[in-house]
Amino acid sequence: MDFLKLSLFEIKQKLESNEITSEELTKMCFNQIKATQKLNALVSTCEEFALSTAKKVDQKRKNGEKLGALAGVPVIIKDNINLEGTRTTCASKFLENFVSPYTATCAQKLLDADAVILGKANMDEFAMGSSNENSAFGPVLNPVNQDYVPGGSSGGSATCVKANQCFASLGTDTGGSIREPASFCGVVGLKPTYGRVSRFGVVAFASSLDQVGVFSRTVKDNALMLQVISGEDQEHDMTSAKMPVPNFVENLKTDIKGMKIGVAKQFFDDKLNSEVKQSLENALKFFEQNGAILVDVNLPSLDVASSAYYIISSAEATSNLARFDGVKYGFQAQNFDGIIDLYFKSRTQGFGPEVKRRIMLGNYVLSSGYFDAYYRKAKRVQKIIQQEFAEAFEKCDVMICPTVATTAFKLGEKTDDPVAMYLSDIFTVPINLAKLPAMSIPCGQDKKGLPIGMQIIAKQWNEQAIFDVANFFEQSTKEAK
Ligand code: GLN
Repeated sequence: MDFLKLSLFEIKQKLESNEITSEELTKMCFNQIKATQKLNALVSTCEEFALSTAKKVDQKRKNGEKLGALAGVPVIIKDNINLEGTRTTCASKFLENFVSPYTATCAQKLLDADAVILGKANMDEFAMGSSNENSAFGPVLNPVNQDYVPGGSSGGSATCVKANQCFASLGTDTGGSIREPASFCGVVGLKPTYGRVSRFGVVAFASSLDQVGVFSRTVKDNALMLQVISGEDQEHDMTSAKMPVPNFVENLKTDIKGMKIGVAKQFFDDKLNSEVKQSLENALKFFEQNGAILVDVNLPSLDVASSAYYIISSAEATSNLARFDGVKYGFQAQNFDGIIDLYFKSRTQGFGPEVKRRIMLGNYVLSSGYFDAYYRKAKRVQKIIQQEFAEAFEKCDVMICPTVATTAFKLGEKTDDPVAMYLSDIFTVPINLAKLPAMSIPCGQDKKGLPIGMQIIAKQWNEQAIFDVANFFEQSTKEAK
């Protein structure tokens, strides 16, 4: 039996029935990590910590003690999430040797649920990117076809799940960084409602848009993981919402009859690759045949979402990244002449080109002469997009569209063209601007065998509707295979 290929729920059951111990499973995962090292999915591993956690959980199980929901299950977290005693690099030279002095709430919740954290996933530097080629530690390779990018910025988190290095992982999504790599790698990736998961201990990119979420091989696994990491954390993150955390797994519906699925034509225009379009149309037909009602909705401002997103996110990044000055922690340039020179040299040498581009863009749009023309206008666009989504959701329960207009692109294909790179997330950024939850699930593949992702969007706090639709699709299409 290949334990590593099982879903999180299946492996949980194997652990519960003592067919395998967590220690054995953890060792298998580390062997798999070594065997698939070429993918460059991880920045670092914490083998000693993982094995000692696994042994503790095994012992607790032996003693008949109460165990958490993820007891003994190996997982991986993105390298912008702090875990005490491990390096948290954000895939930046700036933080290459930074060791976390504390643990992020989401990581702590995994540990409290008795999960085994194996290591930290590679990413685009400070989560800026769509291909994982902006990492100071080299690109991640797509596990389906190594000539292609895995997507970004959480490319490592998607890859480690697809490559069976672990059973689920955490990523972050500011403009698509969970859903785009999930789509490119053929796994399930959810960005929850803004405020569902605490951001405490997660290195900020654009604080008003950043959200932690889950990669998994099945929808039900994703629901369980979200249940574990969600919840208010007002003491540490005031934007974490005081919302009850539903039992997503128990509430999973097996039927979609009468469910209203919104389809906005703006997601299906000529920018869409024909194979992606075909795959999405097949999925919509499938839903209709199974009793769902397709409803036309309108999102007229969708085409300006990307511009607004890159203005707002860069403005916030500029402010968040001001702390990296070479004084208190992180990279410090040698041979400097006074404090200004120290800042200048540390930031010049410590940050990669994309991060510098965002800092310049952010400062530009915030500068007194341009604030109204760019930043204020972008915030207005954000309001309009929020309203358009609110109106659309008066007519439907979920909306469905492609996650990305194409399948994965080749390594190096867009590195010289930042605008082309930015346009890879035209379908994902509007959801962050509107603070909604959305998931990417696999819904087919193109002629080259590359995965196609379908995006399911819901109203704020209604992740349940996403899980229901996605689970129905996954289970029915699995049976059909
Ligand atoms: N690709 C987008 C960007 O580069 C999204 C990144 C993210 O969601 N962290 O900003």
